[in-house]
Amino acid sequence: MEHSSDLLSPRRATRQIRIGSVPVGGGAPVSVQSMTTTKTADVEGTLAQIYALAAAGADIVRCTCNEEAAAEGLAQIVPRSPVPIVADIHFHHEMALAALEAGVQGLRLNPGNLRKEHEIKQVAAEARDRGVPIRIGVNAGSLHPDLFKRFGGATPEALVESARMELAYFEEVDFTDVKISVKASSVALMIAAYRLASETFEHPLHLGVTEAGPPPAGLLKGSAGIGTLLAEGIGDTIRYSLTADPVEEAKAGRQLLEVLGLRERKGLDLIACPSCGRAEVDVIAVANAAQAALDGRNLPIQVAIMGCVVNGPGEARGADLGIAAGRHRGHLFIKGQIVRVVPEDEMVEALVAEAEKLVAEGVEARLAAAEEGAAAEAEADRVALLEEKGADANRSSVKIERIRHRLEHEEG
Ligand code: SF4
Repeated sequence: MEHSSDLLSPRRATRQIRIGSVPVGGGAPVSVQSMTTTKTADVEGTLAQIYALAAAGADIVRCTCNEEAAAEGLAQIVPRSPVPIVADIHFHHEMALAALEAGVQGLRLNPGNLRKEHEIKQVAAEARDRGVPIRIGVNAGSLHPDLFKRFGGATPEALVESARMELAYFEEVDFTDVKISVKASSVALMIAAYRLASETFEHPLHLGVTEAGPPPAGLLKGSAGIGTLLAEGIGDTIRYSLTADPVEEAKAGRQLLEVLGLRERKGLDLIACPSCGRAEVDVIAVANAAQAALDGRNLPIQVAIMGCVVNGPGEARGADLGIAAGRHRGHLFIKGQIVRVVPEDEMVEALVAEAEKLVAEGVEARLAAAEEGAAAEAEADRVALLEEKGADANRSSVKIERIRHRLEHEEG
């Protein structure tokens, strides 16, 4: 586990709630959420998607509960789901009551379109009696029209006020088992709204940039918004909203938490140099081939692909495993130490084989199994390359000479 999270702002203290078996807030690991795109009435199709989401890293999955058939579907889905299920409710409070009857572990209510006080209180009272938490899911795009008018738009203050009003209804029936979201499709607006929410509430916060769109822009928006807040210590559970297979949302959520050091790495972290004039191999092609070959093997290690042996192993010495190209050969290294030298066309194959062994046997054992003479052979390649190409592989000095010569000539 990396401890890069120690370098981020400390996590803000929030209350803890439990969505089924998953704790949210109060120092619990930040959880990943996603939402099914199937009709909830399609029990088998929805369960297949929930399993795929859980395998990709989702800790909690939300399903829409928009009609009676969906609630009936939830009654069959919840007991067979590998992760807790949250029912998403808009407009119809009776769907919230039906979802509770189906046994869901959480509800999401949108205060912007479920507006009758007595209905909100009825749902909160029943959730209280059943011990089921509710997310107050405010969305800038569906803000209550009165608040929109009062604040002159969907401002951070208006979004937080919407959550506060809903919370006040809940508190009137003694229900505080709540998490809050104040999502917007504007990254700047959502960041400002969550900062304010974090100062206003002690309840856990569910982060998201809503309607972020398809990748890659959707991923960037989600990462900018969610990542900024997490780095500030804000946020207890997250969801990327992508116009894509929801498995991509779960993967992105999980990866974001892993790169920030907020969750232990479950999968591969492939790093690669950007390539430059020194590169001895097509780094992009090798990195893509390695990614394809290693994907799905669930190897929790960092693997580096480096374009040259001159700088590669040193620059990637923090990686668990890596390969650097030089003189038509690949130098395989573990924690910066050369363990094998292989022909260039066997680089990816050798990398995958070593990755499997490294995970199975550990670093010490694989360093002990290093091929004799590999380090010396690699050093000889490195020195030869330096001699061949010099320190100036991009031929800058030649170009500079030409520029000087040209200018002298022009001036003369
Ligand atoms: S590792 Fe080598 S090829 Fe890759 S960017 Fe660095 S110097 Fe260039």
